[in-house]
Amino acid sequence: MNQKKPFVTLEQVQEIVKKYPTPFHLYDEKGIRENARRIKQAFAWNPGFHEYFAVKACPNPRLLQILKEEGFGCDCSSYTELLMSEAVGQVGEDIMFSSNVTPAEDFALAAKLGAIINFDDITHIDFFEKIAPFPETMSCRYNPGGDFKIENEIMDTPQDAKYGMTRPQLTEAYRKLMSKGVKHFGLHAFLASNTVANEYYPVLARLLFQTAVELHEETGAHIAFINLSGGVGIPYRPEQNANDIMAIGEGVRKAYEEVLVPAGMGDVAIYTEMGRFVMGPYGCLVAKCLHHKHTHKEYVGLDACAANLMRPAMYGAYHHITVLGKEDAPCDHKYDVTGGLCENNDKFAIDRMLPEIDDGDYLVIHDTGAHGFAMGYNYNGKLRSAEVLLREDGTTELIRRAETPEDYFATLDVTGVFKK
Ligand SMILES: *Cc1c(COP(=O)(O)O)cnc(C)c1O
Repeated sequence: MNQKKPFVTLEQVQEIVKKYPTPFHLYDEKGIRENARRIKQAFAWNPGFHEYFAVKACPNPRLLQILKEEGFGCDCSSYTELLMSEAVGQVGEDIMFSSNVTPAEDFALAAKLGAIINFDDITHIDFFEKIAPFPETMSCRYNPGGDFKIENEIMDTPQDAKYGMTRPQLTEAYRKLMSKGVKHFGLHAFLASNTVANEYYPVLARLLFQTAVELHEETGAHIAFINLSGGVGIPYRPEQNANDIMAIGEGVRKAYEEVLVPAGMGDVAIYTEMGRFVMGPYGCLVAKCLHHKHTHKEYVGLDACAANLMRPAMYGAYHHITVLGKEDAPCDHKYDVTGGLCENNDKFAIDRMLPEIDDGDYLVIHDTGAHGFAMGYNYNGKLRSAEVLLREDGTTELIRRAETPEDYFATLDVTGVFKK
């Protein structure tokens, strides 16, 4: 059982809000760094191991810098993610470009930066040829179809996923790329999302290792790396157990020893592209209770809304909530915790048992470090919040300012209505 204790206290938040009013996303530098070191330790058995942080999960350059200091690269899927990675000093093969439905400009920039390009589809080979010369190292994304099962439990349905190439296409793609001069190959797959099961990576790794051995035998291609991509989950709910990254690393090692080593492929590097596992638990959304409403249900209304954190509205996702200063109070009140969008799905929690909330209380919405701020939007003219870093020494640093109305109107400069 996971206690779900916030990494920030009421006293700290009372200090922070003097400089940066709510709502804001807060990130825990200490937690990020400690977790990054555990990940590296879990895969230390593989000398080529490299984590490419999935930039889309939390595209903030200050956080990318911290991860770079910990030795992580960047996994990008768009032009601006590539620009941001370049801006923090990521170059060459420290950038993985795992995109889909890729525009020509994006491929051109990835090639210019020397990123490793991971083709989502076989037709991208001809598309790419018109844009840039083929690098010596390239990767292909695999979609085995069917259901992805762990011990007969269906984890996800690759047959319905738009990503990746079929098994015959992989062979054809490798052959074609070899004929274009590509010398070193990667193999990538992302088959289940937010898995809270230590078996996900090991089962996926075994599948990819077996496929890599076959591809090597069929085509003679040199397989340089296997990219396990993302999908390692976090316990959003207090009753869930966290993944044990050491057990995950060990499970992948076992598959490696059993499949790759006997095939004479013991030099293959393991790459990962984790987003959620790297950042999720080390961010939270801090918001203030503005209103109470007693109608057919009991509502507490916050100064944050789904535009700051879309997951509950979009997926019905659970995010744990702590009322700061009332950590030990009994959860004897049932609330819907809402934002102010004109959308009834703008609820951070429905029928949630919480301590009695007063106007002005600060609430921590947990686990927003990945796919939190990143999925924000401007519906109802709501402005994106600030992002604040809680440094290891307890001080804070503004790492993104809150949007202003001027930011919101900036792209309307073409109309003449909002001229500077
Ligand atoms: C989203 C994504 C990731 C990161 O996924 P998480 O579930 O956040 O770990 C990695 N690689 C690719 C290609 C992705 O689309």
